Amino acid sequence: MHIGGSWRPASDGGVRQITNPYDASVLTVVSEATAADVDDAVAAARAAFDGGPWRSVSAGERGELLHRVADLLVRDRAEIALMESLDTGKTLREGEIDVDDVTAVFRYYAGLADKDAGRIVPAPEGVLSRVVYEPVGVCAMITPWNYPLLQLSWKVAPALAAGNTMVVKPSEVTPVTTLKLMELLVEAGVPAGVVNLVPGAGATVGAALVAHPDVDLVSFTGGLATGSGIMAAAAPTVKKVALELGGKNPNIIFDDVDLDTAVDYALTAAFLHSGQVCSAGARLIVHEDVHDAFTAELARRAEAITLGHPLAAGTECGPLVSAEHRAKVEAAVARGTEEGARIIAGGHRPDDPELARGYFYRPTLFVDCHRGMSIVQEEVFGPVATVERFRTEAEAIELGNDTRYGLSGGVWTSDVARGERVAAALRHGTVWINDFGPYIPGAEWGGFGRSGIGRELGPAGLDEYREAKHLYRNLDPRPQRWFGS
Ligand code: NAD
Repeated sequence: MHIGGSWRPASDGGVRQITNPYDASVLTVVSEATAADVDDAVAAARAAFDGGPWRSVSAGERGELLHRVADLLVRDRAEIALMESLDTGKTLREGEIDVDDVTAVFRYYAGLADKDAGRIVPAPEGVLSRVVYEPVGVCAMITPWNYPLLQLSWKVAPALAAGNTMVVKPSEVTPVTTLKLMELLVEAGVPAGVVNLVPGAGATVGAALVAHPDVDLVSFTGGLATGSGIMAAAAPTVKKVALELGGKNPNIIFDDVDLDTAVDYALTAAFLHSGQVCSAGARLIVHEDVHDAFTAELARRAEAITLGHPLAAGTECGPLVSAEHRAKVEAAVARGTEEGARIIAGGHRPDDPELARGYFYRPTLFVDCHRGMSIVQEEVFGPVATVERFRTEAEAIELGNDTRYGLSGGVWTSDVARGERVAAALRHGTVWINDFGPYIPGAEWGGFGRSGIGRELGPAGLDEYREAKHLYRNLDPRPQRWFGS
């Protein structure tokens, strides 16, 4: 744990073993914080916000601090990518891309930190009216296991840019790179108490943070049920709540596309990081004239994906993150089969005995799917994609919006006007036209519907961590005599 500027063990000496999903071996051991440790961490963040030197650090200096963090991320890129890969099971190349993305986010908010000091507002004669921005206060940052460092950076970088203090709680499944980032923040010069770290379970450490009266804001990335519970738990103390939740993201393929390209992107969208991606393109909606050719080629390529050790050169997908998570994926596949969907690729663990100790599962493709099936509606968060057919543009849009989520979606067509029409009609926070998956730090990320509340990245991602304050100055105060004598 890191509290008030120093590293320390949990107050009761508790620890948790962190496993390598490749072979279930123990990767490392980290402290398991207690509710009392949460109290200490929040108190340290509160003190640093209310009275410490941090509040007089200028926005420009906070930007410089973030640049130093980015420099350290560049310096330690190989080590961090290795840690992320071993902890989550993603390939080393994906780990490296994550570190580059995290670096870019720190640089983006470093640049934004001092760009908007507020504004003068047109006001009546004799009045100077200004809106200025202030930090919200003590923020609780709660993150998931699939992109541990990346999701954390979307919170920590803007929150520091805006001048907040915080307590960070990584997923208990994959805390390793969060501890590493904490080291880098200290090395970069983040003052004591500004960022505090309490690793541990959601039900104890996370819940204690969400309920804590001295926490002003909770920023959470994770599952829908957890997020909804957090919103309720934060209500009695009227905390600001930002939620980045799940998705069941449609990828719509019209009949006028280059099939080779569309299949290639669909494969990556569905199976990158074994589909453990909130914006995975797991719900394919394919024009009936190209359906058979498209699904045959997608299945062929899915069957050819090489599973293996995340650090091995030829590996295209590593294991799923845990035994519990693979069991959930297997249960979802069994439900899909019971519902009448037909598997044309995968649907089982790999046969390779080398992989038997790890939590591997073959990329799986379902056809004969329809909108009423749970395999089509529920987020599986694993290497499982479904295919539905459509005939008309209206039908494609209807299916694309037929979800309680609304995180992201894609449309593939060579007709420019149609691409724009469909993208405009889709109710999702990000829509890709002839692509699927990329994001950029300057563009907001977040969900419509039950995919969340608020936005990360972009200017709005900074606004989440700022309070707007109106300063109204009467330049020439005189008695008003509103009341008689
Ligand atoms: P999760 O909801 O199980 O856990 C997320 C975090 O919440 C963990 O740190 C966990 O310890 C904590 N937590 C659990 N119970 C809590 C409680 N009662 N109070 C406070 N904290 C609690 O999610 P996960 O399995 O780690 O991550 C997978 C989910 O995250 C998927 O649904 C995925 O779509 C979503 N996700 C969304 C985005 C996005 O940008 N929208 C990005 C990544 C992941």
